[in-house]
Amino acid sequence: MQELVQKSIFEIKELLATKKISVQEVVLSCLEQIEKTESNIHAFITLRDKDEVLTEAKDLDKAGYNSEKPLWGIPIGLKDVFTTKDLRTTCASKILENFIPPYDAEVVVRLKQAGAIILGKQNMDEFAMGSSTENSAFGPTKNPWNLEYVPGGSSGGSAASVAAGQCFAAIGSDTGGSIRQPAAFCGLVGLKPTYGRVSRFGLIAYASSFDQAGPLTKTVQDAALMLSVIAGADPKDSTCIQQPVESDLLNLTLGDLKGIKIGLPKEYFEKGLDAEVAQSIEQFVQDMQKIKAEIVEISLPHTEYAIATYYILAMAEASSNLERFDGVKYGFRAKQARNLEEMYVLSRSLGFGDEVQRRIMLGTYVLSAGYYDAYYKKAAQVRRLIKNDFDQALSKCDFILAPVSPTTAFKAGERTQDPLQMYLVDIYTTSLNLAGLPGITIPIGLGQNSKLPVGVQLIGNWLDEKRLLDTAFKLEQITEKLPLPSIA
Ligand code: GLN
Repeated sequence: MQELVQKSIFEIKELLATKKISVQEVVLSCLEQIEKTESNIHAFITLRDKDEVLTEAKDLDKAGYNSEKPLWGIPIGLKDVFTTKDLRTTCASKILENFIPPYDAEVVVRLKQAGAIILGKQNMDEFAMGSSTENSAFGPTKNPWNLEYVPGGSSGGSAASVAAGQCFAAIGSDTGGSIRQPAAFCGLVGLKPTYGRVSRFGLIAYASSFDQAGPLTKTVQDAALMLSVIAGADPKDSTCIQQPVESDLLNLTLGDLKGIKIGLPKEYFEKGLDAEVAQSIEQFVQDMQKIKAEIVEISLPHTEYAIATYYILAMAEASSNLERFDGVKYGFRAKQARNLEEMYVLSRSLGFGDEVQRRIMLGTYVLSAGYYDAYYKKAAQVRRLIKNDFDQALSKCDFILAPVSPTTAFKAGERTQDPLQMYLVDIYTTSLNLAGLPGITIPIGLGQNSKLPVGVQLIGNWLDEKRLLDTAFKLEQITEKLPLPSIA
């Protein structure tokens, strides 16, 4: 069973298609792995009933392999930010502790149609606000590579779960790095698609002009497969791009990178990057050149404003989005309230955690009449400059190669006392969301000293996922394949 959980989706699909294993065996291998690792890593907030999941597997086995369903019989995890019909959805918040949605998110509908088996809802930072999965009302998730370290965030439960072999892939959400950074910290592939590629219907909003769903997987090919299932126009989300998903998205080819220009943004390597990460990336760049990639230096001159711009805009949007949690419409209501106003105030004060309240207050502040021009409007203008930086850079190269995070996974508790320290780790990820571009994390090995995974990020042009995945696939071949972490 141990060998099964180490496999990629494609490997499992092959075994299922040739009837070498049954869906029940696949599901059992995941359930056993969950049994073995969950008390240590705490990747799930809600696990589905075992018998229910096994019955689903049995029914699939009975019906027989269906090649038209690309995820037939594959156990998948979902970040607890996606609504699931009749299955508790909390966003890792006390305010939604007992919320049972009446409908599935579009992403979930598509996964189910593709034959996936949903195992449960994974831990995250409350309302996806954080970089370590320590801001969860249900307690933190641990990194399976070393339990004293964070798995990254906010999709940390999803990353830890896939890395520990509890499920074969997970869907996370990325507003400012929340798929790519935990993927890097846990040694996985993590894809943030172009803004609008994947429907946000049923993805509980944090910052609507940034949020995007995407997969965390063991391999690039698996990421392409997951994207092909979840992407594409959805009339229920007006920001979802009409363009159909490329029919050849899964045709990834091996080979060299002749003719491909990779840009290295000089600002990303100037200061603040940990020596160990810098060294791994340097080595990786040399290896890229060996397979004929052309490396060019590029500039993203407004990089230093990315974090401030991102946090002002994301908090502003969050303050408005989270208005709906008022003690009336969903979930938690403070019982001790004596009148309407007290009910609002107490429900929100007791229901939301500290970080969420901090962001609602700051977001309300930057949108308030006296400060709107100085903060919100200014940040929206800088957002355009950052987008222009990328347009410029991508006219000089095909893709941009960047670190994902300044360090490998950091120790639990190390940054929780100082929110700014936590925000600073998002330096290399947020600009992509400001610009709406796609990016993919590729694991490139273990750090020399930390022995924890290091990832790099490949950034592509708007809607250029096919080429991005194809290039990532080629790059994956020059990296060492990571084993299952010791805890698993
Ligand atoms: N760490 C960032 C934040 O806290 C990004 C989170 C995310 O992408 N959801 O806002």
